[in-house]
Amino acid sequence: MRRPRVRVSSVVFAAFAVVTPAVLLLIALTAFEALTAGIALAVALLLLGACGGVAWWVMRQLAELEARVEGLAPGAAAGIEGEAPGVFGEISTALDRQGRAWASERRALAAKESELEALIDAFPHPLLTIGADHRILTANRAARAWFAAAELEGRAIGTLLRAPEALDLIHRGLMHGVSGQVEFALPQNVERRLDAHVHPLAAAPGAGAHVLLLLEDMTAARRVERMRYDFVANVSHELRTPLSALVALIETLKGPARGDSEAFARFIGMMGEQVARMARLVEDLLSLSRIEMDEHVQPQGRVELAPLLRHVAELLGASAAQRQMRIEVKPAPDLAAVTGNADQLTQLFVNLVDNAIKYARAGTPIRVTAERATLGDGRAAVRVAVADQGEGIAREHVPRLTERFYRVDAGRSRQEGGTGLGLAIVKHVVSRHRGQLKIHSEVGVGSVFAVLLPAAAVTELKHD
Ligand code: ADP
Repeated sequence: MRRPRVRVSSVVFAAFAVVTPAVLLLIALTAFEALTAGIALAVALLLLGACGGVAWWVMRQLAELEARVEGLAPGAAAGIEGEAPGVFGEISTALDRQGRAWASERRALAAKESELEALIDAFPHPLLTIGADHRILTANRAARAWFAAAELEGRAIGTLLRAPEALDLIHRGLMHGVSGQVEFALPQNVERRLDAHVHPLAAAPGAGAHVLLLLEDMTAARRVERMRYDFVANVSHELRTPLSALVALIETLKGPARGDSEAFARFIGMMGEQVARMARLVEDLLSLSRIEMDEHVQPQGRVELAPLLRHVAELLGASAAQRQMRIEVKPAPDLAAVTGNADQLTQLFVNLVDNAIKYARAGTPIRVTAERATLGDGRAAVRVAVADQGEGIAREHVPRLTERFYRVDAGRSRQEGGTGLGLAIVKHVVSRHRGQLKIHSEVGVGSVFAVLLPAAAVTELKHD
């Protein structure tokens, strides 16, 4: 607390102010000869001295009170030491008590404020408050990251968010105190869809109004929605075609071909093909959903690839032979085992070799090689490549081949009994195994589908 100081000039001024009427009276009495000049002067000096003393004492008390009140201001050293003396003591003590209460309230408010700031900063979506002049008052960490700015306070929202729908909503929130929500697109390299929520914060719309703006990135959610919609549409379409064929065949058997045993045998064969096609589709859909379900759990089995690849060649030998094709399996002699699930790896290589049989030129060989390699992150791996001599795949199709139901030539795929899910299954099996799939294709030359799988840890063989 600063020391209370009383200025002499103030004391003199106060003393003169109080004494002046009495001095005037003394002068009048002297003029009417009721008092002698000597007595009047003596009384005047006496009064001046007494008033000066009283003024000094009152001013000292006030100065001390002033110093104590200053001690209550935020930022001043808290509290007032000692019992306050004099007639102002009680006021001073009451102020002191009030000051302590304020100080503790201020501390509680400051703690609450920093708690709220931390809470708002931890909020994963951009959150801003905007003033009546459309300038940003506060912004959380997500907002700063979203707009890639270290500081947003004071900037006009219109210069940052170029979306008339959202700006209009903010304007209505400020002018009319209405809350609302709007979805809009931001035209960037890849279109982004955002949801803007606006809530008025100040009670009265207009000059002092401010609103809360919450932005939510809906791009991923909308993409998933779109994928789900496309997936259902694709599955329905894939099932509808064989179903319509079956209905038509049954109608023909019931009608024009009734009693025709030759047609009956032919149509039954065709119906069998359609049913097999639907069964393959359902089978692939179930496989895909099973693999996706445990994609987050890496399989822990130990799989020797050389016998597995020979087994795949055996399984598909007959259908390769139908197209005068040979499956050559050539694993390197020092091949390490991989960490994986044998059934899923079998399915993976069956799909790749089956595609080679379907899409490569009849009479050409299919080469399956396996050798040591390293993954992108340096882990030891085994690289299995299935190479064919086919028409190859144009560059623009390659990134999309593993999408469900994506086909370069849908007619050809259906004719070959394809479901359009083979490579999607391959992609998910590889991802579950924490491996990599690399597709290299040259139009007119052929394609190489290479899979890198993490090698299993070497286990020491004990010889007794
Ligand atoms: P599908 O059941 O149609 O074979 P996939 O998912 O296995 O479905 O393959 C998707 C598409 O990729 C095929 O329709 C085909 O156009 C193309 N494709 C796959 N493998 C090969 C390959 N070895 N050579 C040429 N094109 C291929």
